[in-house]
Amino acid sequence: GAGLEVRDAVVRYAPSGRKGSRAAEPTTAVDGVNLTVAPGEVVALLGPSGCGKSSLLRAVAGLEPLAAGSVAWAGRPLAGVPVHRRGFGLMFQEGQLFAHRDVAGNVGYGLERGDAAVPASARAERVAELLGLVGLEGYARRGVTTLSGGERQRVALARSLAPRPGLLLLDEPLSALDRSLRERLAADLREVLVSTGTTGVFVTHDQDEAFTVADRVAVMDAGRLLQVATPEDLWARP
Ligand code: ADP
Ligand code: ADP
Repeated sequence: GAGLEVRDAVVRYAPSGRKGSRAAEPTTAVDGVNLTVAPGEVVALLGPSGCGKSSLLRAVAGLEPLAAGSVAWAGRPLAGVPVHRRGFGLMFQEGQLFAHRDVAGNVGYGLERGDAAVPASARAERVAELLGLVGLEGYARRGVTTLSGGERQRVALARSLAPRPGLLLLDEPLSALDRSLRERLAADLREVLVSTGTTGVFVTHDQDEAFTVADRVAVMDAGRLLQVATPEDLWARP
């Protein structure tokens, strides 16, 4: 098999001591999901807040254990493989950039050590290439605290793509931005994924964003996948 294969995935949370939480039973956040994402394909997980999108994404990333079912990438089962060994790119709502590093320092961070480490000269070249890819030419020496929210998420995107991950997992990466900016960034993000051949799973509660970004949209509700279809097919349905 190739691509991402999620089979009968279940994610549960133990009852928490969280203030105001009265749950005495575990929460089943993901309740038996099957999903295949082909190599190079971008799939959006779309649904209301609390439906389990983030939990499913985190389980694929290895940030959350599966209570049942399995996840495989490129035919390799991922059970027991820790986050940093999966080799996936991760991008979240807030880019979590290093405030004390400039743009280039943030983008090149993942290339300094570990499996993706490259020599400094090759790193500088790769960073320049990545900045071009996300539309931030000339930004290398800017401090990240001087950037707008949209620019920061472009830096976060470049950083997550630096080690050339086959699969990029994005959890509401544009949700902190205002609407007009979101639309433009969603289109740019899709272009970047397509041009780099990166497979993507993109969590959002925004239908327009899902339709802009994805080849197929997986609609979730209450822990389950209701349907998976192209934006065109979803539009066509009553
Ligand atoms: P979404 O991403 O669609 O907003 P989540 O996956 O974040 O949904 O949440 C799904 C359900 O699991 C919700 O009921 C949420 O409250 C619950 N949940 C998420 N994370 C945790 C956690 N760490 N501990 C307990 N419950 C959680
Ligand atoms: P998301 O934006 O991913 O849906 P939230 O903003 O709802 O996440 O939650 C932020 C953090 O709190 C996450 O780590 C999530 O797993 C955790 N969380 C969410 N819901 C609950 C819950 N009901 N009980 C405990 N932790 C939760």
